[in-house]
Amino acid sequence: PADRAAMAEAAAASRPPPDVDTDDCLREYRHLFSPDILAGQVAFITGGGSGIGFRIAEIFMRHGCRTVIASRNLQRVSEASKKLVAATGQQCLPLSIDVRQPQTIVAAVDEALKEFKRIDILVNGAAGNFLCPASALSFNAFKTVIDIDTIGTFNTSKVLFEKYFRDHGGVIVNITATLSYRGQALQVHAGTAKAAIDAMTRHLAVEWGPNNIRVNSLAPGPITGTEGYRRLGGRFAEEGSQFDVIPLQRAGNKTEIAHSTLYLASPLSSYVTGTTLVVDGGSWLTSANNFSALLGIASSSAK
Ligand code: NAP
Repeated sequence: PADRAAMAEAAAASRPPPDVDTDDCLREYRHLFSPDILAGQVAFITGGGSGIGFRIAEIFMRHGCRTVIASRNLQRVSEASKKLVAATGQQCLPLSIDVRQPQTIVAAVDEALKEFKRIDILVNGAAGNFLCPASALSFNAFKTVIDIDTIGTFNTSKVLFEKYFRDHGGVIVNITATLSYRGQALQVHAGTAKAAIDAMTRHLAVEWGPNNIRVNSLAPGPITGTEGYRRLGGRFAEEGSQFDVIPLQRAGNKTEIAHSTLYLASPLSSYVTGTTLVVDGGSWLTSANNFSALLGIASSSAK
C-alpha cells in the first residue's frame, strides 16, 4: 500500500489540470501557486487574444495580475478581454498591434503605461505557422514567419526595454518551440525563427541582466485547443496514436503552458535567466520526424 500511495503521488505530479479547447475561460480553477503571486503587477502579452496567449492571460489574472493583450485583430482581443475580465475580476486592456511595425508597439505600450502606470512582465507569444516543405515555401512565406516571430519578438522587447524595463527591471518570457532541435520536417521557417528567438533570449539575458531584467524562453510541445494544434496535424497525430511515443503519452494543454509561464514570470524563478524551459512531456526526444508521413498530413489538412 505504501508503494501504491507513492505511485498515486507520482501520478498526481504529471496529471494535467482541466482545460477547455475553445478560447474561453476555465469553468473551474484550483490554485496551485499562491493566488496573489502576481498581485499588483501588469503583464503585456502579445498574441493574448487566442490559444496559449489567452490562457496565459487568464492564469496570470487569476493570480492577481492585470493584463494588456495585444494582436492585430482588435475585435478578437476585445472579445477575449471581456471574457477574461468576467472570469477573473481583474482589469484587461485589449490593444491592436502588429509586432512587425515598431510604431504600433510604441503606441500600445504608451497607452498601457498611461492606463496602468507600470509593466512588469512581457510575454512574446505572437507568431504564425503552417506546415510546408522547404521546396514549396515561397521566399516571402519564409520571410514573413521570421518577421513576425523573430523580429516581432525583438521589436516588442526593445520597445518595452526603452519605455519601462531599463529603469524599473522586468521579466520577459518568449514562447518558442522545439522544432529546430531535430530539424522537424515541414517546419524550416518556424524552426529557424524560434531557434533565433532562443538565441536572442540568451543575448538579452546577458545584456539586460544588470538592469534586473530576466529573459527566458518557454518551448511548448503539442498543445490541445490551439491554432497550432489544428494547423500542424494534432488531430492526425491523435488518431494515429502518435502520442503514445511521447514519454508522458499525451499532448499538453494550455493551462499547463500557462502554469510554466507563470513560474518563469514570477519570483519563484528569481534566479533563472537566459534559459529555455521545454514544456512538452518529453515529446521532442521521442516523437516521429517522418518527412513523407508529414507530407501526407499537410496535404490532407490543406483539403
Ligand atoms: P494562435 O492562437 O494562432 O496564437 C498566435 C497569436 O499571435 C494570435 O493571437 C495572433 O492574433 C497573434 N499574431 C499573429 N501575427 C501577429 C502580428 N503580426 N502582430 C501581433 N500579433 C500577431 O496560436 P497558438 O497555437 O496558441 O500559439 C501561441 C504561441 O505558442 C506561438 O508563439 C506558437 O508558435 C507557440 N507554440 C504553440 C504550439 C501549439 O501546439 N499550439 C507549440 C509550440 C509553440 P492576430 O491574428 O489577432 O494578430
